[in-house]
Amino acid sequence: MLSFWEKNSLINYDSIIIGAGITGLSVACELKERNPQMNILVLERGILPSGASTKNAGFACIGSLSENLHDISVMGEEALVNLVKNRHQGLQLLRNRLGDEAIGYIGSGGYELILKDQDDTFLNKMEYMNNLLFPYFLKNIFSLCNYKINSFGFSTKSVKAMILNSEEGQIDTGKMIHSLWNYCQKIGVKIITGALVSSIHETENKIEVLANEIEFKSSQLFICTNAFTKTLLPNIELTPGRGQVIATKPIQNLKLNGSYFFDDGFFYFKNFENRIIFGGGRNLQFEEERTTEFGSNQFILDKLNYYLKTLIIPNQEYEIDHSWSGIMAFSENKLPLVKKISERQFLGVRLNGMGVALGSKIAKDLVDLA
Ligand SMILES: Cc1cc2nc3c(=O)[nH]c(=O)nc-3n(C[C@H](O)[C@H](O)[C@H](O)COP(=O)(O)OP(=O)(O)OC[C@H]3O[C@@H](n4cnc5c(N)ncnc54)[C@H](O)[C@@H]3O)c2cc1C
Repeated sequence: MLSFWEKNSLINYDSIIIGAGITGLSVACELKERNPQMNILVLERGILPSGASTKNAGFACIGSLSENLHDISVMGEEALVNLVKNRHQGLQLLRNRLGDEAIGYIGSGGYELILKDQDDTFLNKMEYMNNLLFPYFLKNIFSLCNYKINSFGFSTKSVKAMILNSEEGQIDTGKMIHSLWNYCQKIGVKIITGALVSSIHETENKIEVLANEIEFKSSQLFICTNAFTKTLLPNIELTPGRGQVIATKPIQNLKLNGSYFFDDGFFYFKNFENRIIFGGGRNLQFEEERTTEFGSNQFILDKLNYYLKTLIIPNQEYEIDHSWSGIMAFSENKLPLVKKISERQFLGVRLNGMGVALGSKIAKDLVDLA
């Protein structure tokens, strides 16, 4: 039973946010920055954030050429341009809010590798994509840079072409969430971890949120639970997708410098200091990876190792230091869901595997909506 003191001071809030990933924490920042008097609570089920935001590989993705072309076929030109703008603006918001140093931002560019057996006819569409995005970026962001293939240590026998996206960068995922968390606390946001929200009840003048048998109350609720949203809203259109990531031990004389993608963005790697962070391969076993359970997939991990040996650092010794998984949320139309779902509830989920850059913009849009 709650004490008088708990009821008096620890239960009632102006806004409650469920989920302490990049979206939830950024919603808390947006609310508090706009209204410093607001009493805000974030409820997170894990002791640490336990979804995608602390598990990703740290690419500040705007979208590679092949991914953007694919997305146009699914959502149309206008929606794609809008999505790319939102990712770019999200990244600017994150950088402005916390500072590049605090998130380990490096604007090293993103390189798409075209492998030797790959159909490369989509290269003809580079000018089309540059023209489509030109009104926003005021420059051509995609360019062919085959002259750099050897300098990164790849063999021209394996990689036949390489496209640079000048607007992509990388962040230090751990540093970014650590800084975002600290910033939230500095501006007076309360965060409770180990608080699994099991039910939500809306009445005419308040929201009741049950977490670990404690009923918190607020005027507004923001649901930022991404891949795990179905446990609260079973009818939501969303498919979970697990991603595998590995990190090598430091490698001497590593030539990589930037973020790299291949196989339509399904595989991604970058250097982090002198290690390689490498993830992806979900497309090899879509069914097995359509889960909200963390865990490793040996088949995919073997494939990551194969590409390390044959493509990324051929002829170099390496050891794997860490491997882990994280859970993303996807939809057929590849668009995020930013929505008012009732008088007092707002939903910001389904970041389709590219939320590092997008998360802060989703949060801004959600708070604008509220
Ligand atoms: C392996 C991997 C690699 C990725 N690589 C990239 C990349 O390179 N670039 C990029 O842009 N994006 C990448 N992403 C995607 C990116 O990480 C996500 O899009 C983004 O982190 C989503 O943030 P979020 O806050 O919306 O969701 P999450 O980070 O998943 O946060 C949701 C939070 O809600 C909590 N929660 C869920 N249910 C409840 C409940 N009932 N009660 C309380 N708390 C709850 C969870 O524990 C979680 O902490 C990757 C993701 C993974 C997994």
